[in-house]
Amino acid sequence: MNIEQYRKDAEDFLSKVDKEYYLHFSGRKPDLNLDEIYKQYDYLFTFDNSQYFKKLIDTSDGDSKKKARFLFQFCTEGYLSKKYQNISDKIANNEASYKINIDGQDYAFRYSDIILSNESGLDKRRDIDSKRRQITYEIFNPDLKIYWELLHREAIELGFDNYTSLFMQLKGYDFYNLEKDMDKLVLETNDIYEDHMDRFFNRKMGFGIHDGKASDFAFIKRAKEFDIFFKKENLVSIFKENMRLLGVDMDRQKNVIMDVEERENKSPRAFCCPVKVPSEIYLVVMPSGGQDDYGAMFHEGGHAEHFANVSNRLDFEYRYLGDNSVTEGFAFCLENLAYEKEWLISLLKMDSSAANDFIYFSGLINLFFLRRYAGKLKYELKLHENLKVENMDSLYSEILTRNLIMKYYPENYLKDVDEGFYCTSYIRAWMFEAQLKDYILSKFGTGWFKSKKAGDFLKEIWSYGQKYSPEEILDFLGYKELDVNYLINNAIYLIKSEH
Ligand SMILES: [Zn+2]
Repeated sequence: MNIEQYRKDAEDFLSKVDKEYYLHFSGRKPDLNLDEIYKQYDYLFTFDNSQYFKKLIDTSDGDSKKKARFLFQFCTEGYLSKKYQNISDKIANNEASYKINIDGQDYAFRYSDIILSNESGLDKRRDIDSKRRQITYEIFNPDLKIYWELLHREAIELGFDNYTSLFMQLKGYDFYNLEKDMDKLVLETNDIYEDHMDRFFNRKMGFGIHDGKASDFAFIKRAKEFDIFFKKENLVSIFKENMRLLGVDMDRQKNVIMDVEERENKSPRAFCCPVKVPSEIYLVVMPSGGQDDYGAMFHEGGHAEHFANVSNRLDFEYRYLGDNSVTEGFAFCLENLAYEKEWLISLLKMDSSAANDFIYFSGLINLFFLRRYAGKLKYELKLHENLKVENMDSLYSEILTRNLIMKYYPENYLKDVDEGFYCTSYIRAWMFEAQLKDYILSKFGTGWFKSKKAGDFLKEIWSYGQKYSPEEILDFLGYKELDVNYLINNAIYLIKSEH
């Protein structure tokens, strides 16, 4: 194989895919035509190429070994998505076209999620949820079962014991160690979670968490009462102002293309498309206001600034591929500014008491997500252990309900599953971010987000792309390992302390 050519073509392929995503989801192009691009680059994703890179990992060392592993991951994931594209397209199209009837009117299945989280009436909310679950059970699950069982079989054909060991090799870390870390987090936060979430449910809903359902939480999380601080019209200017304080002038940053125009069919959630790293990065936003919208803007803005600051001297593998816990960690680093009192006061103009209320609320949401992902990982490890998917729906409901106490119904057991254990990238990113923030706060203080020096530090670590893993970056900063205790302590601190 000509690796030089492979790298070049792989970079062109990713550029074209990301450009297509950008055009479609920004509402500039009605249809999404990935098929053609995949056909054009078909030869990149063959079984033989995947086996070639697998062997190359064993026969190389140092930098070459790392690059071989990144290419093996890229090639094999591409091979899997190409081979099972028909069935995954069918699943996606079904989800996009199904309607559910609410009060005599038909709504798109996907949109019904937004209606649900804005619905204050308990009975109506639960009725929408039950209709969503029924469609999932009847229409989506039969295909999803076929899909997951095909992937389980494929992992064995690729020479692995199961789907889990395939992805542990592709991602390059041990999922079972991560499971142990998250078991510790769950155990150490059991009491504080139950106690505070129960009180919060009582205050917001008039009943406790033991009578709550996942659909009730969707409404609580929407938190309309904070909307006055998260105005639609300030979203972009606050983000730019924050970047300016860190020494990044986005108006003169030619390689970050901000797309903020309102357009029909534009994705309501902000997103980032790194079409050419680092020279052509799209940051797409359609402001709607609210704390979720701000969170998404800062998260995606974090990805955009990371990719835009990657050194153009780095090889393809380090600019585009690697461990996504790194870029997710950088994204959370900006998103989680919402946990910092000084930031809420100086950029969002909250007074001290509003900031305290908001940090407490965010702390509960944060702990919910950490415990949810702990449960997802535990469940997904079980789901992917065997070839056949049998009786997993009750296990899904049991694990998620145990971790979150509110009721999780079994029907979503195949839909609420991350492709290729992406849940582990988020978990590692949260751990990484907690330690990175510990470093930033001790080095630059609580006002770090308005310090050019802190901005210079970020630009420096951004410049390596994803060449280094979270463990390697933390090692440079003087930490021994990726350590879950920082994440646990911070999660507890947000809820317990008087800020
Ligand atoms: Zn992200």
